[in-house]
Amino acid sequence: MKSIPEFWFEPQPWLNGQSSPANSFVEVRNPATGEMLAKVGLGDTKMLCDAIEGAVKVQEEWAESSSVERGVILKKAADLLLDRKDEFARLLTAEQGKPYAQALGEVHYAASFFQWFGEEARRVYGRIAAHPDQGREYLIESRPVGVVGLITPWNFPLAQGAKKIAAALAAGCCAVWKPSEFTPLIALALGPLMAEAGLPMGVLQIVPGYGGELGAALVDHPEVKVISLTGATETGRSVMAAAAGGIKRVSLELGGNAPFIVLPDADLDQVVEDLIQLKLLTSGQVCVTANRVFVHADSEIVMREKLAEKLADAKIGNGLEDGVDAGPLIHQQACDKVLGLLDAAVASGAEIVYQNRTYQADQSLVKGSFFPPTLLARVSDEMALAREEVFGPIISLISYSSTTEVIRRANETPYGLAAYVYGSDLTECRAVASRLEVGIIGVNEWRPLKAEIPFGGIKQSGIGVEGGEEGIHEFCDTRVISLPKPKLV
Ligand code: NAD
Repeated sequence: MKSIPEFWFEPQPWLNGQSSPANSFVEVRNPATGEMLAKVGLGDTKMLCDAIEGAVKVQEEWAESSSVERGVILKKAADLLLDRKDEFARLLTAEQGKPYAQALGEVHYAASFFQWFGEEARRVYGRIAAHPDQGREYLIESRPVGVVGLITPWNFPLAQGAKKIAAALAAGCCAVWKPSEFTPLIALALGPLMAEAGLPMGVLQIVPGYGGELGAALVDHPEVKVISLTGATETGRSVMAAAAGGIKRVSLELGGNAPFIVLPDADLDQVVEDLIQLKLLTSGQVCVTANRVFVHADSEIVMREKLAEKLADAKIGNGLEDGVDAGPLIHQQACDKVLGLLDAAVASGAEIVYQNRTYQADQSLVKGSFFPPTLLARVSDEMALAREEVFGPIISLISYSSTTEVIRRANETPYGLAAYVYGSDLTECRAVASRLEVGIIGVNEWRPLKAEIPFGGIKQSGIGVEGGEEGIHEFCDTRVISLPKPKLV
């Protein structure tokens, strides 16, 4: 059993390079055991304004700093994070609930964004364009937008922060980060690490608080030039509406309803292996998890048997314990929501094939917010479970009979985030993938997201991208200077 690490930071907002005592608090508990981890200080609107003001003060200096220096700081942050990956992973498990091995994976994933944007900082290009008037030319520049607001969820609380922070800082923007009220500790843990990496004070401010109050105030503030949000589609809608007041740019990474299409010639053993890993990752609380598993009618019975067998092998419990494959959901309300969707599906004809309740054998988990990973068959497109983002460990099997039909049904959703296609004929897989209305598709792969590629949703899953060479441009403005061509004297 791994231990919860000693905190190396104050559980208080991080302003101008130091902890800043707050007046109100939230109790953060381990979702596996219900044990209190800390009373964490929450910022109020006055503190948020101070944070934004502090960032504004150093914005120009940071924007004018050498891109190489910014890159060195970001790459140093990546190194420090990897040096301390064990402490960060244990804290992440205790606060978020995901198993230690998955938490370690998230720390590596977060570090990869600091590394990637540390390199990309020096690759922001402009260009010179021809001017229609003689003797003149255009200089087209990418400039940092100024202070930006970053708002993140609780499911990947470190990596979602890292993606945004690394891109914004690399672009030359100062950032004010409002992490989720459910996972403020792992965010605050990053403050001192960034300072140690050499980040000047005020360039990154971390102010935990509630979305409706502090998040909304961040969106409204006139000095905040871009809002980058990762969260639910409903939250994206209200942030976008609020940002309209100031014609503020938004970058939105929102919810999904990913189809996972198993073609008739797929290697079912690989499908089962990958699908179980995908669904147990953060207990299905992942925007790109497989929400609808489309299985060809001919393979359905075999798939059911193989999946049930594999799911029975999984150990569900406290993520700090060795060998645990999935942890709890973030809180009891999340369990209630998933149960509501499951009950409604069963009432409409879905069939529970198998549920894994291994966590019930452990008395220390009675106060945890666990939900049994469930294999569900006979799911139909009309059920809420197939139309909404479930955000829990339910594998919903949906039957189909032709490829044209499955493509149409996979696209019948307002979401457009991710999809998966499994099959042996790669030409067929590619043909199916190219017809899916989503931002990213894994062909015979369950984990296609990496720092190197631009990832973002289409339709109601978002606007803009994170990662890749494109990610940095979410935080840049284009400026054109029309000027006389220099003459020889
Ligand atoms: P959420 O929308 O409830 O909260 C996300 C963040 O927004 C939190 O920090 C919250 O405090 C803040 N917030 C809430 N209301 C706000 C408002 N009115 N103004 C400003 N900020 C506000 O989402 P969640 O429950 O924390 O996370 C789960 C959701 O995030 C899921 O829908 C999931 O699909 C989505 N998500 C998307 C991606 C992606 O890359 N597309 C990645 C991870 C999670």
